Amino acid sequence: ITYELVDEANRNINAGGKVPLGLKKKKLRVLVTGGAGFVGSHLVDRLIERGDSVIVVDNFFTGRKENLLHHFRNPKFEMARHDVVEPILLEVDQVYHLACPASPVHYKFNPVKTIKTNVMGTLNMLGLAKRVGARFLLTSTSEVYGDPLQHPQVETYWGNVNPIGVRSCYDEGKRTAETLAMDYHRGLNVEVRIARIFNTYGPRMCIDDGRVVSNFVAQALRKQPLTVYGDGKQTRSFQYVSDLVEGLMRLMEGDHVGPFNLGNPGEFTMLELAKVVQKTIYPNAKIEFRANTEDDPHKRKPDISKAKQLLGWEPTVSLRQGLPRMVDDFRQRIFGNEKLNSG
Ligand code: NAD
Ligand code: UDP
Ligand code: UDP
Repeated sequence: ITYELVDEANRNINAGGKVPLGLKKKKLRVLVTGGAGFVGSHLVDRLIERGDSVIVVDNFFTGRKENLLHHFRNPKFEMARHDVVEPILLEVDQVYHLACPASPVHYKFNPVKTIKTNVMGTLNMLGLAKRVGARFLLTSTSEVYGDPLQHPQVETYWGNVNPIGVRSCYDEGKRTAETLAMDYHRGLNVEVRIARIFNTYGPRMCIDDGRVVSNFVAQALRKQPLTVYGDGKQTRSFQYVSDLVEGLMRLMEGDHVGPFNLGNPGEFTMLELAKVVQKTIYPNAKIEFRANTEDDPHKRKPDISKAKQLLGWEPTVSLRQGLPRMVDDFRQRIFGNEKLNSG
């Protein structure tokens, strides 16, 4: 069924008219804030594939038009350069709220802006969801657990967060965003969904965004030493982006508010990650130790029992399977560009 026919059917429903047979399946209008970013652009691909109309709102701080170029000629796709800190009026059925820099290097760059994005940006998008009766999904983060004293982290754990540190603009910003979402839900009947996302990697990550997987992959491809911060014994759990997108969509479509941890429970030390990257890309890559950043969490690993049970979701792509897919994309972008620059 074409979009026009469905649109016609929707108009009939709104006008109290009879719905023509076979046209009951309503295609959705979906707003994706931060849709030009790494995760957002993969989510947009899936929504468009499903037949939805998608509006992306992005200020291009860390996002890129190139991530969405393949949709530009699709009439079901729209993109607006807009900062979510400012109000905006749009009519949609669902809001996936992703707008916020995710890499520590980016979110520390202008910490006050990061807080504004998380607090005022989330408030505006909740206000929009309330006005139009849309369902609202917040992409929160495992950082709400801070430097966790419980391992692995369960959703009921309240976290161990420094409120005045250099990461606080992001951690506390996201914690406030969760609070806002729950208050709009409890007090104003907005249908909300909260995802706590653990470290995610894949194609379209910014090449030099300072996150560990993108750093190691770019360094190994350029035959530079892999920079391990601290003693390299801190741990993270790395999720491939397609698994995350599947989890976000199940959460949005399901009946549960959350919060839900969405992450891959496979846990690696940074030294182990460096070894996997060496093996995948360049076995002779050297490892160089650097001073670690302030307040770096010592370990992180999701307990995903809740998502397994209530969303029927679990990751299917291991680090060893996912990494090569990201490497292909990075290789093309790094060497494609370098060729362009030198030619
Ligand atoms: P990203 O930086 O690639 O994408 C964020 C997008 O938001 C970018 O396109 C950026 O331009 C846009 N943006 C930032 N501030 C904005 C503003 N004020 N107004 C409008 N647009 C704005 O990051 P990502 O990895 O795709 O992360 C997406 C979301 O998922 C973020 O909310 C992040 O906090 C969350 N998350 C990601 C991870 C991860 O490992 N990737 C982990 C936990 C949480
Ligand atoms: N808002 C928005 N788009 C909308 C509706 C609201 O950006 O479609 C903003 C609005 O400007 C306000 C915020 O969302 O800053 C919260 O809106 P709400 O109606 O919940 O609160 P109020 O405006 O009453 O403070
Ligand atoms: N890290 C590293 N080398 C790098 C970049 C990061 O060893 O080039 C470490 C960092 O100190 C942290 C972990 O990798 O312990 C994950 O960092 P990232 O910035 O990817 O995400 P975080 O989980 O800290 O938000």
